[in-house]
Amino acid sequence: MIYLDNAATTRVRPEAAQAALEVMTRDFGNPSTRYALGTAAAERLAADRAVVAQALGCRAEEVVFTSCGTEGDNWAIRATLELGKRKGKHIVTTAIEHSAVLEPLRDLAAQGYEVTYLRPDRNGHISPAQVEGALRPDTVLVSMMLVNNELGTLLPVREAAEAVRRSGCPALVHTDAVQGFLKVPFTPEGLGVDLLTLSGHKIGAPKGIGALYIRRGLKLRPLLFGGGQEGGLRPGTEPTAQIAALAAACRVWMDHREEYTERMKVVKDHFLSSLQAALPRAVVVSPGDAPHICAVSLPGYPSEMLVRELSDRGICVSAGSACRRGKPSYVFAATGRPKTELLGTLRVSFSPESTPEEADALVSALEEIAQSRVSL
Ligand code: PLP
Repeated sequence: MIYLDNAATTRVRPEAAQAALEVMTRDFGNPSTRYALGTAAAERLAADRAVVAQALGCRAEEVVFTSCGTEGDNWAIRATLELGKRKGKHIVTTAIEHSAVLEPLRDLAAQGYEVTYLRPDRNGHISPAQVEGALRPDTVLVSMMLVNNELGTLLPVREAAEAVRRSGCPALVHTDAVQGFLKVPFTPEGLGVDLLTLSGHKIGAPKGIGALYIRRGLKLRPLLFGGGQEGGLRPGTEPTAQIAALAAACRVWMDHREEYTERMKVVKDHFLSSLQAALPRAVVVSPGDAPHICAVSLPGYPSEMLVRELSDRGICVSAGSACRRGKPSYVFAATGRPKTELLGTLRVSFSPESTPEEADALVSALEEIAQSRVSL
């Protein structure tokens, strides 16, 4: 199998699986208990939190573990609006956010919030001036992702946070950094954001673990009420095995960061140039600013058919976000490109283990499909 859908999820790294196994079978204590097994679990939890904080470039007490990126996004949005409820009801976001941001916003719009959606240009970029122009005295939240999950484009989060500060509006700034974490360099403080979401399964940790960065001093309403874990903000017995796996995956990435970035970039560039050489009618919808994601199109060949035909040849790529389950991609559509291009768009996303040979196999398979099938 050739797996080139690493923006959807990643294979769990052996180091992460090993850490989870250790915690599940040996260091399995409940961190809230007072005997040695429990205190050892609490110590390990503290050490693992410190590792995740180091990978993010923030303080350990600013990291709250969640069950996934979707939970972090939903919580950040709702808690921010709760804080700003007397200041305004206007939200600024982009038309290309993940559904984990767009769907809670849609629900809030139905409850009377006004949402401004910034639209990207043809290449999937949003300009700082667009953010600046959208801010109002009653803007209470700006939520902008760091790296788009279908186009690989970088969004101007730092500039958005600066614009908020300059404008004097009361908005808090949230970024969904699920696709950017450890793939592009940033720290929450450097970006100037108040809240930042990440998810473990994009970096070789298992599904079911994520984290929300909450800037020190920001007092959020808890997501849940219960036993006081996670500083009382997100109680529930800590998923220590998943947390250990997340920390282990972070450690591997931190140890190899430059090498991993370079490897993914080299394979992606190789893929894009081989594709254009082999299939001159292929269009690069987005080469991706991030090292691991790009979007390409074979106009006239519907992406669902391409995904199926590639799957029959043992190659996994997506027609867009995995969460869309076959629905046309609103992200690709938001770029305003011609319909024939949009219908044939594929997202290809790499891991540090991806090889040029795998990229070549994808190009050959696309060539074969284009030769055997009549375009629309
Ligand atoms: N945000 C982005 C940009 C994503 O790509 C994803 C997952 O695909 C999510 C949020 C949701 O993360 P999770 O699957 O951990 O809920």
